[in-house]
Amino acid sequence: LNQLRQGLGKTRRSLVNQLKAVVGQGPLNEDAIYEIEALLLQADVGVEATDKIIEALQAKMREATLPPEAAIRYLKTILRQMLDSPLDGDHNLLFVPESERLNIWLMVGVNGAGKTTTIGKLTHIAKKSGYTCLIAAADTFRAAAVEQVKVWGARSGVEVISNPGQNTDPASVVFDAIAAAQARNTELLLVDTAGRLQNKKNLMDELSKVRRIIDKKAPGANVEALLVLDSTLGQNGVRQAQVFSQAANLSGVVLTKLDGTAKGGVALAVVQQLGLPIRFIGAGEGIEDLRPFSSYEFVEALLS
Ligand code: GDP
Repeated sequence: LNQLRQGLGKTRRSLVNQLKAVVGQGPLNEDAIYEIEALLLQADVGVEATDKIIEALQAKMREATLPPEAAIRYLKTILRQMLDSPLDGDHNLLFVPESERLNIWLMVGVNGAGKTTTIGKLTHIAKKSGYTCLIAAADTFRAAAVEQVKVWGARSGVEVISNPGQNTDPASVVFDAIAAAQARNTELLLVDTAGRLQNKKNLMDELSKVRRIIDKKAPGANVEALLVLDSTLGQNGVRQAQVFSQAANLSGVVLTKLDGTAKGGVALAVVQQLGLPIRFIGAGEGIEDLRPFSSYEFVEALLS
């Protein structure tokens, strides 16, 4: 928890102290709620999620007098419920690959969001937990991307399936990688994809094609499409996410670079606006700096 607190340092500094000052005056009142609203918006929680949080606080305040500790405790409850809301019931389950089965995690997101780094960190976690793992280097658009993912693969001893030819089709790399995974009974196949947004149609077509290949070639696999989102982009990132959501049938989000931003509240905007659960959070560039998302841990790290 301390590590996460440190990671969320910038968001915490702008949120915790001010929130305590606002709430700490006495029983919660309309003025304090108004200031909480401003603080939430400042932390990039987004209008939609902020409105919901404020409405819940107001409703509670009408029901009962809320001294400072009770107000903070209730605020934490609202945030946790919001973060868990896309999960209908299974929110105690950490997000892990299903064992003895092929799990394919398709990683999507714009260039620079942290896809390759996240794949590197995920293979590290997967290996440590004893899963057999492969990487498909399907970001064939940037030659450097394939090299970069190979460096990460080598760090945790995970093989990278790539196609050395120029202008290769990402779907063919994915096809080869699935064949390799099936032949070896691999449990987790991580697929790196291209993230150029300049040409939305190409990107969507490419992702849809990759998705079709996966569904056709590996019908029994457990497929997750995880959007890697740079939290420093705040609300802009959420808008980008919508493009990917249409192309890749997203099932979750990895929020990166929480260490570099005061916009950590964007986690709530993501959940509220996209209706997707956050599965991992990145708070640093190192191989250990990725952790499975827990709403409890996140809210405690943010507000205590
Ligand atoms: P991709 O284009 O989506 O594959 O993005 P990369 O994985 O190449 O990451 C882009 C940059 O963001 C690199 O310099 C990474 O080191 C950095 N990065 C990725 N995740 C994090 C994170 O959680 N925290 C910080 N501070 N930097 C990160």
